[in-house]
Amino acid sequence: MKAVVGLGSCGIAAGAGKVFEQFEKEIGAKNLNINLEITGCVGMCHLEPIVDIYDDEGNMHRYVKVPADKIAEFLDDILNKGKSEGYLISQIDKESQEKQVKIATGRCGYIDPEDIEEYLANGGYKAIEKCLKDLSPEEVIEEMKVSGLRGRGGAGFPTWFKWNAAYQQNETPKYMVCNADEGDPGAFMDRSILEGDPHNLIEGMMIGAYAIGSEEGIIYVRAEYPLAIKRLEKAMDQAREKGLLGKNILGMGFDFDMRIKAGAGAFVCGEETALIASLEGERGMPRLKPPFPAQKGYWAKPTNINNVETFANVPWIINNGGAAYAAMGTEKSKGTKVFALTGKIKKGGLVEVPMGIPIKDIIFDIGGGILNDKAFKAVQMGGPSGGCIPAELVDTSVDYESITKTGAIMGSGGMVVMDETTCMVEMAKFFLDFTRKESCGKCIHCRMGTKRMLEILERITEGEGKKGDIELLEYLAVQIKDGSLCGLGQTAPNPVLSTIRYFRDEYEAHINDKK
Ligand code: SF4
Repeated sequence: MKAVVGLGSCGIAAGAGKVFEQFEKEIGAKNLNINLEITGCVGMCHLEPIVDIYDDEGNMHRYVKVPADKIAEFLDDILNKGKSEGYLISQIDKESQEKQVKIATGRCGYIDPEDIEEYLANGGYKAIEKCLKDLSPEEVIEEMKVSGLRGRGGAGFPTWFKWNAAYQQNETPKYMVCNADEGDPGAFMDRSILEGDPHNLIEGMMIGAYAIGSEEGIIYVRAEYPLAIKRLEKAMDQAREKGLLGKNILGMGFDFDMRIKAGAGAFVCGEETALIASLEGERGMPRLKPPFPAQKGYWAKPTNINNVETFANVPWIINNGGAAYAAMGTEKSKGTKVFALTGKIKKGGLVEVPMGIPIKDIIFDIGGGILNDKAFKAVQMGGPSGGCIPAELVDTSVDYESITKTGAIMGSGGMVVMDETTCMVEMAKFFLDFTRKESCGKCIHCRMGTKRMLEILERITEGEGKKGDIELLEYLAVQIKDGSLCGLGQTAPNPVLSTIRYFRDEYEAHINDKK
């Protein structure tokens, strides 16, 4: 028998660390023949602590909200009755998992992220082997083109195009960089992948490095993710011991190694030129483009940057073929997308769904609907750079083009759900306050414009709003968008603009009713 405890950050926050300790104690004290293992987040954060029990035939039974102080009774039930009925996952929660299509997060919550053998036993490092043995760098890039994979960090730029641009450069060395600086409030997709399946990221980066001709990789991960950093370091050590990182990988003449750079948590460092500046030891401030990183990036050398989720799709694409990936999704948005579902939602957690499904299916079928059965009001997509999508547009398809049409953006995958009690002006103020604090200060439009907009929002929500404030907000928003150098400033007004577009009456009510 095997007991597997979910020890992602969400599980640990819910007490799974103590659950694991109690299992250890009970198994040791009673000399039970049970293998105790760990895994990452399976996506059902609202049900943590989660324990999977595998019987001797390999059948898995999932138990949820398992309390640390009841492990003795829990184990008695399992050993004597075969099941512990009180904590078994419900059919409806099981089904919400079955509605998803998991590629980037396929192994998260099932394998031990600290054991390379489990990754290898589940098809790990087969994709890089296939590349080195059977595919030229051009063929790898072509496979990415066929897949239609677009960057999952927010901009949705075709991955093959970026790889090809770096591949075309003659200068060396070239660098393969992973942007793991996940900074959107409410987003934790990348953290879960790093904590739950770090070898998948390593393999994805190796494939990208092979394609562009790079021998050095850097993972820029925020220092606030200590568990992710620990597991990544362990995974890299294990890969080196197995000859999967370093010189002459798999005896195929490919050299590649990687390291971690812990970022200090500045939101703007998610912008690729700011990230490069930070890697070089400079203050994280965006730089003018062109030149693009593919031409002159890290230390002015050709550099490719993708985010965690993008890389996490790559091994699957190589193993299954670009066409299989492209068979999912819409005409222009292929494959799957991972979302972090938070806010006023019954079943908060991580979901991975095929592109093209309606937002409604994510919120109601998978997320279980609105907390306390309140009415759904809106969902903020794309974090502080995004916008809110109101209830009347809940049938909108989840794809880059449809989401952009609503005034929001796909972003990296944060979905913050709001109910009927949420004040949309307060919500816009929260996000603008965030971007104002995170502005690097280089451009006056962004530095001062966001401050002026925030002041107006503050007086509106304090009952001091004036006639003309809404128009002033709209005017400033356009100036900031047009006058800012990087994506932070260019998108900072989005939450204000989208709430004015869909909830203008709330702004007017604050101003006219002076409350
Ligand atoms: Fe810095 Fe804002 Fe200008 Fe970006 S737009 S470079 S964050 S001041």
